[in-house]
Amino acid sequence: MLKFTDEQIVFQEVPGEVSLAFTIAGCPLGCKGCHSSYSWRPDIGCLLTSEYFSHRLQSYQGLISCVLFLGGEWQGQHLLALLTLARSAGLNTCLYTGLDDVAPSLKQQLTYLKTGRWQAERGGLNSPHTNQIFTDLRTGQCLNHLFIKQ
Ligand code: SF4
Repeated sequence: MLKFTDEQIVFQEVPGEVSLAFTIAGCPLGCKGCHSSYSWRPDIGCLLTSEYFSHRLQSYQGLISCVLFLGGEWQGQHLLALLTLARSAGLNTCLYTGLDDVAPSLKQQLTYLKTGRWQAERGGLNSPHTNQIFTDLRTGQCLNHLFIKQ
């Protein structure tokens, strides 16, 4: 079962979307300089049950356009179930992963995917030198340019 340490509404992590974002506990990648290392322990946070998740989607109905998961791919079946619920509710979906790719079954239920570990020397999506890639999976288009301030 997935557990989350943070739940918030975010505006910049997914361009053009108002997203309900969950930080999932237990990321195993251990990137040096990770901004959310407090969430690495898999035993902290609150259970993200289907019932709780559905209730939150109902509460935000008409106010959000997307659900963002910051991690969770290490429990693919549980994540897939929540993504499917979000898509059934007519919402777009996004996953931020430190991996370079995720399972095709997850991508089928995702609108957007951010891949790539945090590498401080290369920066995040707002850096032209980043190793990370933000993709619109509907078109395959890289949307990194939308994160860079002109
Ligand atoms: S993938 Fe993200 S959450 Fe996981 S260690 Fe790296 S920066 Fe932190």
